Amino acid sequence: MTDPARSALMSRVKGKNTRPELIVRQELHALGGRFRLHRKDLPGCPDIVMPARKLALFVHGCFWHRHQNCRMASIPKTRREFWNQKFGNNVARDQRNVSELERLGWRVEVIWECRTRKRKELSASLRILLASSPRRDPSLPPFTVVKR
Ligand SMILES: [Zn+2]
Repeated sequence: MTDPARSALMSRVKGKNTRPELIVRQELHALGGRFRLHRKDLPGCPDIVMPARKLALFVHGCFWHRHQNCRMASIPKTRREFWNQKFGNNVARDQRNVSELERLGWRVEVIWECRTRKRKELSASLRILLASSPRRDPSLPPFTVVKR
């Protein structure tokens, strides 16, 4: 991989408000979802948080977070050791964050970057996700479905 390609990948995954993230937010919004972004007080700073449902979403880049059996999660041909260590650290950190969130009573779901490329399927799975994650705390703002 060339250096510009690598740095493009870097900036894509490290930053917040990535394109896959924006797509997920748009689709959730279309479903009437209410959410907060980037709760820094929660482990791993989840990308999207629905407090009433105690639902935390990570929108993960397939390359950096190692989506299994995904063609976007290739391993660069050079500096294998460096990459393997880096990927290992990323995956370990992700797992740690998920367990900590679950310990705090959150349901955690990962939405993979490649899945955001098929909007209809993404929307359908978000709908199912919301339906299977009812509000648990009535004192918090509800999720409302906008009738279309
Ligand atoms: Zn993927």
